This record gives sequence, structure tokens and C-alpha cells, in this order.
Amino acid sequence: MLTWLTAGLFGSVAREWEEVTLMAKDPVCGMEVDEKKAAATAAYKGKTYYFCAPACKTTFQKTPEKYVAAEKGGSRG
Ligand SMILES: [Zn+2]
Repeated sequence: MLTWLTAGLFGSVAREWEEVTLMAKDPVCGMEVDEKKAAATAAYKGKTYYFCAPACKTTFQKTPEKYVAAEKGGSRG
């Protein structure tokens, strides 16, 4: 009998999310993924990557350097 309570909590939390929502980019398909709702995540070289679907994570893990290298990294330190 906690369904109503859970639903009530979810409703109030959802309002908070609007301000805090962070969109990450799925490196495999290029889709924008809500970090809190990502279907899958993977850590690579200290960075977390977010995926729209587990299949994208699988693809990423086969050749992560392929997708990470696409990012232009010019910053030092
Ligand atoms: Zn994807």
C-alpha cells in the first residue's frame, strides 16, 4: 500500500530534475542521453560515457578508442 506514496515522491522529485538534468552525448550514435535515465553507462579512462541503449554500450566497449578519439582533445593538464 505504498504506491500512492511512491507516486507522490516521484512527482515532487521530477520537478527538481528539470533544473538538474544533464544531457550527455551517446558517443556511438550521437544521441543526447539524460545522464539519470541512461540505459547504460561505461567508464573509460576515468570518464563516464552514457548510452541510449545497452547495444550502444556493447558497440562502444568493442572499440572505445574509436569513439573517444573522435573528440578533439587540445587541452593540457
Ligand atoms: Zn545510442
